[in-house]
Amino acid sequence: MDACVVQVPEAASTPRAVWSRLSSSSRSQQQQQLVKAVVEHQQREKKKSLKRKTSFPPTAPSPTRVCGGGGGDITNSKLNKAEQEEKQRTKSEPPKKKFFPNYVPRSSPNFSHQRRIDPAMDAAPPPSSSVIFLGTGCSGALPDARCLIHPSTPPCPVCSQALSLPPERNPNYRCNTSLLIDYCQDDGSHNYILIDVGKTFREQVLRWFSQHKIPYVHSIILTHEHADAVLGLDDVWVVQPSGCRNGFSQVPIFLTKFTMDSVAARFPYLMKNKLEEDDEISQIIQLDWKIIEGDIDKPFVSSGLEFVPLPVMHGEDYVCLGFLFGRKARIAYLSDVSRILPRTEHAISKSGAGQLDLLVLETNTLHGEGDPGSCHLTLTQTLNAVKRISPKRALLIGMNHEFEHHKENQTLAEWSSREGIPVQLAHDGLRVFIDL
Ligand SMILES: [Zn+2]
Ligand SMILES: [Zn+2]
Repeated sequence: MDACVVQVPEAASTPRAVWSRLSSSSRSQQQQQLVKAVVEHQQREKKKSLKRKTSFPPTAPSPTRVCGGGGGDITNSKLNKAEQEEKQRTKSEPPKKKFFPNYVPRSSPNFSHQRRIDPAMDAAPPPSSSVIFLGTGCSGALPDARCLIHPSTPPCPVCSQALSLPPERNPNYRCNTSLLIDYCQDDGSHNYILIDVGKTFREQVLRWFSQHKIPYVHSIILTHEHADAVLGLDDVWVVQPSGCRNGFSQVPIFLTKFTMDSVAARFPYLMKNKLEEDDEISQIIQLDWKIIEGDIDKPFVSSGLEFVPLPVMHGEDYVCLGFLFGRKARIAYLSDVSRILPRTEHAISKSGAGQLDLLVLETNTLHGEGDPGSCHLTLTQTLNAVKRISPKRALLIGMNHEFEHHKENQTLAEWSSREGIPVQLAHDGLRVFIDL
């Protein structure tokens, strides 16, 4: 016997010990009894579960809303009865308390179309278009983990809040910049267009898709290939329309050739353009790669809405794209920019091609005038650009932890009344209703 192995005598009453003492015939008997006991146990459990199912009201999942087909609810007929019962029940009940009773809306008189964040929002899709800010933070996202792991004295006031407030109530909790366009078409159907899919995409889906009742993403547009704009692509299959799961359709993704080459190097499996054996059940989105030129004169149409590419410098050796969109109201979205090129500025300026209804513009750092090597705008540079472009209103994104939301918005309110252009910091989850 191996000297290193210490054998512990089995307790005489353990099942194994009892089993080993049985003769082979009694083992066979015992086996039969065991099988019988298992079968009886299974039957008892089955009866119990049937009893449970019939003695409680059936819980039906939410109806499946299919957008793009008139915006109405298409409800599984098997669920109709339960749905009706649930509706009757909720009608007779007093309204439920709000999930966050102490929530103070961060709306401003300057943004009358801005709706408060509210988990109890209507279940039906709104009868107008809107843009939803899925993320308004810098590349590292907020809170900055360093401020929590190695807190300074005094601690960073913006990041330390992250541990005391839930993200839904914390405008200083910022994911990577990303915008979801809810485009309500003339026939009332809704198309959902996603700009950028960064490192924090999964968290953004969990926080905002359910709250704003976003069922799918119909198309994707990428501004550039940095990590905070593309690294969530692996998770994007969870929001693809159901037809794509069966290989019937693909989600169009609009991007420059440069961006596509970079994405292809990082996600080679996303480049397959048709399903292979076993892919049907895999978690890989079916993408339809659409190369765009990145030129103001080369607009493209994504999910029925026209987009004009707006090239901007993102560092002096790198071009990133912003986008101009909207047939009725005009919106420009510039998420990563250190310098706005003259042609782009002309296309979105009041003194150029016409005044924007909404400018969404990056501001990354609170202090400084911007140095030549920077890839992002400082607040001073951003506000100078807002003055030159002169939109009807502006919302700022891409902020690092130097920006405390309420404090800086107060300062911006003073700036706005002085300059006559309403400007605010956006926050994650903000939905702005606007007629596109
Ligand atoms: Zn911090
Ligand atoms: Zn970037």
